[in-house]
Amino acid sequence: MIEEIPLSRPEITREDIEAVLSVFKSGRLSIGPVVEQFESEFAERVGRRHAVACSSGTAGLHMALLASGIGPGDEVITTPFSFIASSNAILYAGAKPVFVDIEPKSLNLDPQAIERAINRRTKAILAVEVFGNPSHMAAYRAIADKHEIRLIEDSCEGLGGRWRDRPIGAFGHSAVFGFYPNKQITTGEGGMVVTDDDRVADVCRALRNQGRAPSTMQGGSAGNWLTHELIGFNYRMPEINAALGLSQLRRLGSIVERRQRVAARYIERLMGNPELIVPTIDDDTVMSWFVFVVRLRSGYSSAERDRIIAGMRRHDVGCSTYFPCIHLQPCYRDRFGYEPGSFPIAESASQRTIALPFFTEMTGRDVDFAAQTLELMITRESFSRG
Ligand SMILES: *Cc1c(COP(=O)(O)O)cnc(C)c1O
Repeated sequence: MIEEIPLSRPEITREDIEAVLSVFKSGRLSIGPVVEQFESEFAERVGRRHAVACSSGTAGLHMALLASGIGPGDEVITTPFSFIASSNAILYAGAKPVFVDIEPKSLNLDPQAIERAINRRTKAILAVEVFGNPSHMAAYRAIADKHEIRLIEDSCEGLGGRWRDRPIGAFGHSAVFGFYPNKQITTGEGGMVVTDDDRVADVCRALRNQGRAPSTMQGGSAGNWLTHELIGFNYRMPEINAALGLSQLRRLGSIVERRQRVAARYIERLMGNPELIVPTIDDDTVMSWFVFVVRLRSGYSSAERDRIIAGMRRHDVGCSTYFPCIHLQPCYRDRFGYEPGSFPIAESASQRTIALPFFTEMTGRDVDFAAQTLELMITRESFSRG
């Protein structure tokens, strides 16, 4: 039987399973010691004072924005080349996402385009380490500081990466991580807000727990359990999920390293192909690879790209388009009246991307087979072009 090479697959070890089982045996399924332990080891890992676990990366972004006082009438500058959650969170907070174009090498926000978009309504920059690349984060922080607005990092794709000696998650006033099963570490579903700001951390702790004062989270008196100081949410992370995340976090170094090896083999294998743009990484950057995405060179249409992806799938190689631009998604286009051409660099990149199979346990043979199939499908496409 031919086994498919999936686009993504979580690594679940014996220790992960034991860790989850021990929560069941403890009888304490929510608001307990495992979440606290996960938070404290996570904060240390990314070099921040506080970490607040929550139910998803999206929930974390929502809380991080609210805790920074962002609301109706405010503008937040963000990227159209990301997963839709990053700008949806701005809408949940009642603010307006203001898209600006990206820089073509890293695919992260273009710092000069940010500067041009800042006005007196701008309250924050919500920047994403796209595919795990921290390029320009220090520049965004400098721009934010100069204009006295906040940088909030959507670090959902970057856990374990660094720029110089600064970990991803240590650039923003706050930063948010996500633990969906395709991320570097998973909790099934889950997220984490990190910050050095005591107030932001306290507000996030309250918001995730129906607006209760943070002290009630750590077994405060029954009296204040029913006192709600803010209109909050139920964004709590269950103990079961925290146990999985903590177990995975403890081998993050090995996870990042094995993913770097997979990426290096793809790069070596595909770098010489003139039809492809393969990621190039700055010397200052330690990537934590989230996905491995190549681009067809300019001149390819999105229809040609889609045929190549369909061909790979027919050969049992999982592939996808990462990302369709947010401003052209039906729910944004209709509401804000964006047209194709608004952000040419993001649009042109997004029409030609191919995300290849990528996961921690991927073998060299898997990489070779995926790369070979990609090259075959590109050659076939060039025949039909004539
Ligand atoms: C994964 C991801 C999120 C958060 O996703 P959840 O599924 O809510 O955990 C947010 N932003 C980006 C850029 C992501 O890749």
